Amino acid sequence: MRADGDAAFAGLSGRGARRSASASKDLTDLPPVAVGALGGTIAMSAPRQGATGAVPSLDAEGLLDMVPRLRSVADFRVRNISATGSASLSFDDLLNALDFAKEQAESGVAGIVLAHGTDTLEESAYFLDLLWDRPEPIVFTGAMNTESSITQDGPQNIVDSVQTVLANSMRGMGVLVCLAGQVHLAHTVVKTNSTDLATFQSPDWGPVARIVEGNVHAAWRPAHRRMVLATPERPYKPYIPVVETGLGNEGRTLAALAGGDTTPDAIVLAASGAGHLSSSCADVAAGIVADGTPVVFATHTGSGSTFRRTYGYAGGEMVLIRKGLIPAGFLTARQSRILLGVLVANHADIAAVKRAFRHEGQW
Ligand code: ASP
Repeated sequence: MRADGDAAFAGLSGRGARRSASASKDLTDLPPVAVGALGGTIAMSAPRQGATGAVPSLDAEGLLDMVPRLRSVADFRVRNISATGSASLSFDDLLNALDFAKEQAESGVAGIVLAHGTDTLEESAYFLDLLWDRPEPIVFTGAMNTESSITQDGPQNIVDSVQTVLANSMRGMGVLVCLAGQVHLAHTVVKTNSTDLATFQSPDWGPVARIVEGNVHAAWRPAHRRMVLATPERPYKPYIPVVETGLGNEGRTLAALAGGDTTPDAIVLAASGAGHLSSSCADVAAGIVADGTPVVFATHTGSGSTFRRTYGYAGGEMVLIRKGLIPAGFLTARQSRILLGVLVANHADIAAVKRAFRHEGQW
């Protein structure tokens, strides 16, 4: 374990945290850090709880104002990118966030914090991870409880994310996700629970770091070499449906999608176990592949990898692979959709799609 100590953070935790006056520095001495606001619960309040519900109300400056003393830790450069629930974000909003991150990294910031709704955060983080080729960390954060909640977690998550950005040990690992005192790779993280504060977990690999008493304790660095792809042109609107399969699924949804008015750019199957379909669903999928649409199968179990050479029954993964379907390996169905979108935008042929999934899914 390695702890990146930063005395500036000692005792700085959450809303209204205090630091001694002697520790404050001239703004010009402070490390520059960029903060982009994209809405989400971290920026929401519900002034009349229960009446109207929580809606976005804080911009990037408002997020920093939740912890006033943060201003004496870093010199912040802010951008308001979006103010919405994260399911309403578009890929173009994320590309705007990427532009902001690039521009700021080129001007010398230590790293970039992006405050985002937790619902789609893992997808956005993985999307930018595929496009980020610089050593400065992009750290996604959010909150499970709003600004008006007694158990508000946003301020601590902002503090922890700034710490993460400033920690030397966090450089060069691509895009990270920081909530509830844990730091995860975008490549491994999943929202595992709809309400827990520590919802973001890496079920297969664990966090890369934990933050304790103002220190970022780095546990490991990925052996996996990051793949960086060309940034898609805007407007970027890939059409890649994810179909969950399971008991009694004969492939009717799949057939309807493939025969619909708009042909999907690719299809992801969130399949049972280590990547298994019913025999009839497998036949439908094979027909779609034969017509030229890439079909990827991931496990819908929530963790683990697809198999490649264990089951040879109809609908088993060996047969699917023989029919041209591509296993997602350790990638989730949601990650597979993101990766396929970028590959399609990069005009990848089927061999290149396979290579990319072998690399990213680690099979
Ligand atoms: N419930 C969400 C959140 O945690 C809302 C969103 O994702 O924007 O931020």
